Amino acid sequence: MNIHEYQAKKLFEEYGIPCPKGAATSSSDEFEACIDSLGEGLVVVKSQIHAGGRGKGTFTDGFKGGVKLAKTKEEAIEYANKMLGNTLVTIQTGEAGRKVQTIYFTEGADIKKEYYLAVLLDRATSRPVIVASTEGGMDIETVAEETPDRIFKVFIDPAYGLADFQLRELVTKLGLSKLESKNAAKLIRNLYTMFWEKDADMIEINPLITTETEDVLALDAKVSFDSNALYRHPEIQALRDLNEEDPKEIEASKFDLSYIALDGSIACLVNGAGLAMSTMDIIQHFGGSPANFLDVGGGASKQQVIAAFKIILGDPNVKGIFVNIFGGIMDCDVIANGIVDAVKEVGLELPLVVRLEGNNVVAGRKTLDNSGLTIVTGSSMADAAEKIANLVA
Ligand code: GDP
Ligand code: MN
Repeated sequence: MNIHEYQAKKLFEEYGIPCPKGAATSSSDEFEACIDSLGEGLVVVKSQIHAGGRGKGTFTDGFKGGVKLAKTKEEAIEYANKMLGNTLVTIQTGEAGRKVQTIYFTEGADIKKEYYLAVLLDRATSRPVIVASTEGGMDIETVAEETPDRIFKVFIDPAYGLADFQLRELVTKLGLSKLESKNAAKLIRNLYTMFWEKDADMIEINPLITTETEDVLALDAKVSFDSNALYRHPEIQALRDLNEEDPKEIEASKFDLSYIALDGSIACLVNGAGLAMSTMDIIQHFGGSPANFLDVGGGASKQQVIAAFKIILGDPNVKGIFVNIFGGIMDCDVIANGIVDAVKEVGLELPLVVRLEGNNVVAGRKTLDNSGLTIVTGSSMADAAEKIANLVA
């Protein structure tokens, strides 16, 4: 689960991670009050969307920059009015962009030097890793490609936590002054504590900056949390912004289904991530392309299958449906009954190919055959995939 920068910075404050003072609002009536709550001087106006690269982004009406530095209050309000309600396209949003529904104003900081800092989970070592670089404010993937020697990593044994010597080594590599090192070490330790206590997936600060007064500040904040741990963090759940999520994903999560949108034309109802991957491969092998994946998981109920069908049919790009179920824990007849009920309830004008295999498959096939509906069945995964690919072609 992702949160906005302004929410992340509130957490930063709680954990003693210094960042510029800020104020957020979703209403243009409050712009002035937000700015007045900050100190004198430069004001940074920041579009709040769940995507990076805002500074270099462009709005769909041509206005440039989702992050702007303003010298006066009037200028800041002007920028904020251009951003609020406007759609921002960045390298991370895709062409459609994201509608800006909240503006965050911060005090402008005087940057001496920009750095990069992140804490995330390293899958190869199964450990948290701190990633830091002297090349801040730019795309970290580019740094990794062009100057990998300027990226430093510290792997943390979760049983021992972050050791002082690891911190010292890291700030030394960053080439900081004595006071900056002290400030940075404190910030990084607090950041790691937040990562650990809040079950974050990733915390990224780009840029982390030093100032002329040798302070170290987080100028940006991108934070995501492990969805599987949200049950123990109601305070984090409360930060969820449904405006930033695909309505179909929200609907799917209400029924404990996982939905992934893609850009093809064949909707896929499957059970299990592995089967989803192979379904995608085999559809492409036969010249088709998936519109989405709806994973009903290990033991779906009839209600879930009905909900799944409704979600799939809500996507206008869908030209055909492929149900590919391997009944391990799942009872194939439950799926078959779900399909029949769903089709009866929502109607179906699109071709539907079903491949069922495994637990109680004979009863499942019988349910489909006796339904009187035009459902094409496949004798194997390949046979079914070829049929649906041909039907939508
Ligand atoms: P992003 O583009 O989505 O990563 O948004 P950022 O919050 O990182 O802002 C984009 C850029 O604006 C940063 O990389 C900085 O160069 C610049 N910027 C942001 N805040 C300040 C500030 O307080 N002072 C100055 N001088 N530049 C800032
Ligand atoms: Mn940034």
